[in-house]
Amino acid sequence: MRSMVVVGGGHAGAEVVVGLRKAGFEGRVVLVADEDRIPYQRPLLSKSYLSGGTGPDELAIRPERTYADNDIELVLGTRVDSIDRGARRVVLSDGRSLDYEALALAPGGRPRLLPVLAQHGPLDNVHYLRTVADADRLREQWSAGRRLVVIGGGYIGLEVAASARAMGLEVTVVEALPRVLARVTGEVMSSFYAEVHRERGVDLLTGVSVVDAVVVNGAVREMELSDGSWLRCDLVVVGVGLVPNTELAAEAGLAVDDGIVVDEFGVTSDPSIVAAGDCARYPSAQLGGDLVRVESVSNAVEQARVVARSMVGKPVAHTGVPWFWSDQYELKLQMVGLSRDFDDVVVRGDVTERSFSAFYLREGRVIAADVVSRPVDFALARQLVARGQVLERELLSDVDVPLKQLLVTTAVER
Ligand SMILES: Cc1cc2nc3c(=O)[nH]c(=O)nc-3n(C[C@H](O)[C@H](O)[C@H](O)COP(=O)(O)OP(=O)(O)OC[C@H]3O[C@@H](n4cnc5c(N)ncnc54)[C@H](O)[C@@H]3O)c2cc1C
Repeated sequence: MRSMVVVGGGHAGAEVVVGLRKAGFEGRVVLVADEDRIPYQRPLLSKSYLSGGTGPDELAIRPERTYADNDIELVLGTRVDSIDRGARRVVLSDGRSLDYEALALAPGGRPRLLPVLAQHGPLDNVHYLRTVADADRLREQWSAGRRLVVIGGGYIGLEVAASARAMGLEVTVVEALPRVLARVTGEVMSSFYAEVHRERGVDLLTGVSVVDAVVVNGAVREMELSDGSWLRCDLVVVGVGLVPNTELAAEAGLAVDDGIVVDEFGVTSDPSIVAAGDCARYPSAQLGGDLVRVESVSNAVEQARVVARSMVGKPVAHTGVPWFWSDQYELKLQMVGLSRDFDDVVVRGDVTERSFSAFYLREGRVIAADVVSRPVDFALARQLVARGQVLERELLSDVDVPLKQLLVTTAVER
């Protein structure tokens, strides 16, 4: 029987297996995943799962019966250890092997370790957040009044800080760059979120990094910062980025460069192997073909749909514009597009009212937008960005001119 194998049970892997059925594939479909649970929604881990609003049974991306109904074999708690490309076969950690006609790699990534802490080996009160197991371990130490130090002022760090404040922990955030969210957004959004966190009682330190740690009985008690100050802590969460899981692909001789390199159809340097999700580096239509690796659910899902089609020989190119969201306190931040290399920022709405959008433009063209608590703006921003629409900044910033009108009346340029 024809057989498709998918490696990794995250958002991408879960979508590939369903996508294969949607694309009409009737042969064998096997999902091999090293975590011991059906694919689940990772974004909830730093949000409602940590602040207590979501339980472990509410995390699944799809109910278990969807896999059974679609005749998808789930091999959980098992790793794919190697790929024999010549034989078109993967070898699993339990010693079994599976033959494939096409293979999808969706192994995601793992948290980047912080050397100054990692050099001590595993520490009881130092946490990274990628899996339910990580979140459960963190929740065991998560109680009101305890001193939490979050290292890294990116999305995950700030979401953890917000969830911790909701649970009454004392929170300090340490960010090495001069502003939070610096890698993903512009200054308007960074200073807005810095102010929100400070208002909620977070001690937010920017432009400083951890240079030393006092470890007693397997736990960090105090950390020295680059400005010479010391921070005492009961627990630490490190959120300093992701390392893509490329080893399996690299060992099989596939092209790897800060991600598994794929073309616009999600195909790797081996035509029978595709890759999708946080692990994949693909040519971005929006960036004129530059290779990007995007860490977001929307990107993982869209790429997964693309690679499922490639696996069954019905290719469609990946053209989607990635979007992302972040929940902190009562605020919903939604972002679309890749804001790198913008030359102008237009703010629409009222920052002090906590309902505004920042549009990023390059040569007058809307390339990305960050939207705070304005869902209608976001829906329209997605269309503006997808079209790469050219807009006058005066019109864009004028809240009396509905965005919808701009979308309709402005000529589409691309
Ligand atoms: C705390 C947190 C909050 C987030 N919040 C948001 C958000 O608000 N919005 C958003 O868009 N994105 C968010 N993200 C990012 C989003 O979750 C990822 O972009 C998405 O999960 C990527 O899916 P993936 O399938 O590529 O990889 P993953 O979800 O990492 O799944 C890959 C799976 O493959 C497994 N695996 C790896 N190697 C092997 C192997 N050899 N054999 C078998 N299995 C293997 C891994 O263990 C993992 O289970 C968040 C991520 C985290 C961690």
